[in-house]
Amino acid sequence: MDVHSIRRHFAFADFGRIVANNAASTQPPRELLALYRSLADRYENVHRGQSDASREMTALFEDAYDTIADFIGAPDRTGIALYRNTTEAINSVMYALLTEFRDGDNVVTTMMEHNSNHVPWYALCREVLPRLGRSVQHRLARFDPRTGELDLDHLAALIDSRTKLVCCTAASNFLGTRNPIGTIRGLCDASGYPQPTGERRSRLLVDAAQLVPGAYVDVRALDVDYLAFSFHKMLAPFGVGALYARPHLLAAGLPFLYGGDMIAEGRVFPDRVEYNALPWKYAAGSPNILGTIVSAQALRLLLDLALTPGRPMYFGTGRAIERPAVRAAMNRVADWNRSLTGRALAGLEAVDGITIYGPRDAARRTSLVAFNLAGRDPIGVAEALNRAGVEARAGCHCATLAHHALGLVPPASCRVSFYLYNTPDEVDRIVAAVAAVAAGRAASVPADAPAPGAA
Ligand code: PMP
Repeated sequence: MDVHSIRRHFAFADFGRIVANNAASTQPPRELLALYRSLADRYENVHRGQSDASREMTALFEDAYDTIADFIGAPDRTGIALYRNTTEAINSVMYALLTEFRDGDNVVTTMMEHNSNHVPWYALCREVLPRLGRSVQHRLARFDPRTGELDLDHLAALIDSRTKLVCCTAASNFLGTRNPIGTIRGLCDASGYPQPTGERRSRLLVDAAQLVPGAYVDVRALDVDYLAFSFHKMLAPFGVGALYARPHLLAAGLPFLYGGDMIAEGRVFPDRVEYNALPWKYAAGSPNILGTIVSAQALRLLLDLALTPGRPMYFGTGRAIERPAVRAAMNRVADWNRSLTGRALAGLEAVDGITIYGPRDAARRTSLVAFNLAGRDPIGVAEALNRAGVEARAGCHCATLAHHALGLVPPASCRVSFYLYNTPDEVDRIVAAVAAVAAGRAASVPADAPAPGAA
């Protein structure tokens, strides 16, 4: 990975910032911000005008769906529904399935879910369905508190012939654990649950917010029913998240939002409505047009940065995204992230009084490390790191259940997380800063000290 060429694409690198909060959101490359601005000269709504500008925006917007589908190996754009973020994408599945749940069914999730993939299922089972007179259980699979690995035996024991849906994160944003999606798919297949769409197995929803940004993903090989992720964790600005769903599920399902553009042109009557073709059935109302176009270009730029950082091949073009290129690029990103994470783990393990959460082996993890320092408040640790020029995050990272499961009071930890523009040298400086905080040294840096790199 030519990290020094890659860093030239990012403004943050000019300011000496050590950005180690990439599991929350990544930094946007200059090209994407420029693209955002440059779309102003063609600014128009999509599917809603006869101007050249509207036609051009519509073409770019529709192409964006193709790019997103190609990037994750979906058959085509009919398997893609775009929302504001992963959270909204997961909620859309919850609403789509509201009418399908039968009395006595259950939903299985895990104790390591982000609240985005816990609270919707909690609310469905404990608040929404009871009010509709239906009883559906919410079952939670444990993880091993020592290793941070999902307890697959417990998960298997929870899945039965009444399990309509299993919702699982592909990678924990706190423990870092990568979950074995293939094995979980097998458990879903064995349940025999009769779905209204004909399949006899539990459906599988994968929260891939921490997977898609740093791994080669092929939704057909993973054999998932639903997969959700956010583009702000993979170079794009905020505002767009994707749901992949098997097209026949989107075809049979009920949309989350109803209104304009999601209906077939002219096919609305007082007592009858015909929905638009996929994926537009799931695009009610004026969409985040600029965000969608820029998000798709973020995927193209990510391929370029990983493969040919000085020479754009995919960015700004309509060039088809071939699977081998995606595989090569994303495997490079994964290798880079893994080596940074391994280096961080090795360095941090030597820090006095540190407790590191999750698997010890970087190959079992996504590119983040969460920890606590004995006797230190994690928020104070992150603030001390900030004063030392390291941008980390402390809190429960919305993985509240997992913090409770580890008995953390308050439910909080400090987390550093990496992406393709981080360097081994930065990791060493992060480790040194954590060691200094642990030793009580960096904490003495005055709050108004100039930020490192500031003129
Ligand atoms: N799931 C996981 C595993 C995450 O890490 C995050 C973001 N922290 C989300 C879901 C939610 O993503 P968003 O805020 O984009 O909805």
